[in-house]
Amino acid sequence: MPVRMKQLEPFDLIVFGGTGDLAHRKLLPALYYRELDGQLHDNARIIAVSRRDLSDDEYREWARKSVASQVNGLCDLAMQRFMERITYVSLNVDENTGWENLEQVLAGREDITRAFYLSVSPKFFGPICSAIGEHGLVTEETRVTIEKPIGHDGESAHAVNETIGSVFKEHQIFRIDHYLGKETVQNLMALRFANVLFEPLWNSAHIDHVQITVAETLGVESRAGYYDTAGALRDMVQNHLLQLLCLVAMEPPESMEADSVRDEKLKVLKALVPMDEDRVNRNTVRGQYRAGASAGGAVGGYLEEVGNPHSMTETFVAAKVEIANWRWAGVPFYMRTGKRLASRLSEIVIQFKDLPHSIFLEEAGQIAANQLIIRLQPDEGVKMQLMIKDPGPGGMRLRKVPLDMSFAEAFKVRNVDAYERLIIDMIRGNQTLFMRRDEVEAAWKWVDPILEHWANDKEPPKGYTSGTWGPSASIALIERDGRTWHEE
Ligand code: NAD
Repeated sequence: MPVRMKQLEPFDLIVFGGTGDLAHRKLLPALYYRELDGQLHDNARIIAVSRRDLSDDEYREWARKSVASQVNGLCDLAMQRFMERITYVSLNVDENTGWENLEQVLAGREDITRAFYLSVSPKFFGPICSAIGEHGLVTEETRVTIEKPIGHDGESAHAVNETIGSVFKEHQIFRIDHYLGKETVQNLMALRFANVLFEPLWNSAHIDHVQITVAETLGVESRAGYYDTAGALRDMVQNHLLQLLCLVAMEPPESMEADSVRDEKLKVLKALVPMDEDRVNRNTVRGQYRAGASAGGAVGGYLEEVGNPHSMTETFVAAKVEIANWRWAGVPFYMRTGKRLASRLSEIVIQFKDLPHSIFLEEAGQIAANQLIIRLQPDEGVKMQLMIKDPGPGGMRLRKVPLDMSFAEAFKVRNVDAYERLIIDMIRGNQTLFMRRDEVEAAWKWVDPILEHWANDKEPPKGYTSGTWGPSASIALIERDGRTWHEE
């Protein structure tokens, strides 16, 4: 099926951290795909910035290899066009040198969209924004994108937002959470708000509980240094999992306008029941992986990998989250995320309530409550678990069957990476899928007390064997409520 695509207006996209891992794995391949689809105007440029001393051609060669390593079946023509629009600028943020090179490259292009993408360590967000301001590089049509993490607690996030806000207006700031750019996450909105079926059932009268799982099989890999100062709560829950929770729980926004959607998400964050000490003890579990097996091979434990035998950093979090409003009172949202788990899986499970009364005989079999399963990875899609009659003669026997919508299968389209969508939205100035400042700060406000109680807790995170579903306390967390984690 052909995809309808509108070409972008001319732009300059300036990628700070142009030689980094994110640029290599995500940003450059995403931009190449936009090139391939003819979405980039002839007068659109990509300006990679980093501290390394490279010529345009040396950088282009690096970029070409990056794209080739991530993309199957390159198109020579598209690649040639792509290379021609790339320029490289060497600039050192620490030493505050090289800014005049960037000024020169951007000069005379003040009328077109200027999009800065800060794909660098968060410690540079403030200094880069300040320097962009001091060098007079902010035009009417300028925007800036910042990557996670935004701060390591509420106070530091506030400080980052203040600095960026002193240079850019809120409508120019794009705080990326790439989960919001995922096809299935978008589909969650379509499912809820483009169908009449679900919305009347989307509340405590019909939904028993919700589960959000984001499971990785990888360990900390090359990010050990960063990860040991962050942990799963900061790295995953504060942003990705809470954003997913917001999309499930929010009221229907008035429209898809950025602020309509973000206002509704903010209301959910404000309605989260605060985590006092008692709730942290009862409703959260933190874990840390030990040696075990992952993806078929033996792997070491977290403490050895980060080289810090006393690390109290959690690589796993499970939490029971409550929302104090009319729609969700009494409906727990169970969240879990972790590294080195049994499989790579991200999904949202909406568990509907049991039937109020069964008209069927016992021989018909057990009636399982309906489930709506929204799968983010590995195979994006939506599945509805329904009860039907087993076909054929032999009386009324009931069976659970999935109504399965695997998007890549159903539409025969390439699975578009979240970054493709988000970069384009950012260049167009559409903030719907980006986090507003008050959302980020409200999320920290809920997370901060958990961090605080954990920091005061002398008991280390609970160990779990790599390749399992986390500490047994996570299973106990949900099972003591008479429920169980969804497993296929
Ligand atoms: P990286 O360490 O691989 O790359 C950092 C980049 O910054 C490099 O291009 C480097 O040359 C440049 N740089 C470092 N010091 C500099 C200086 N003094 N002056 C100018 N440039 C300098 O980092 P990354 O993994 O690409 O991550 C970039 C950002 O994206 C971070 O904020 C990270 O948290 C975020 N992020 C990364 C990923 C990922 O998968 N890599 C995922 C989510 C978020």
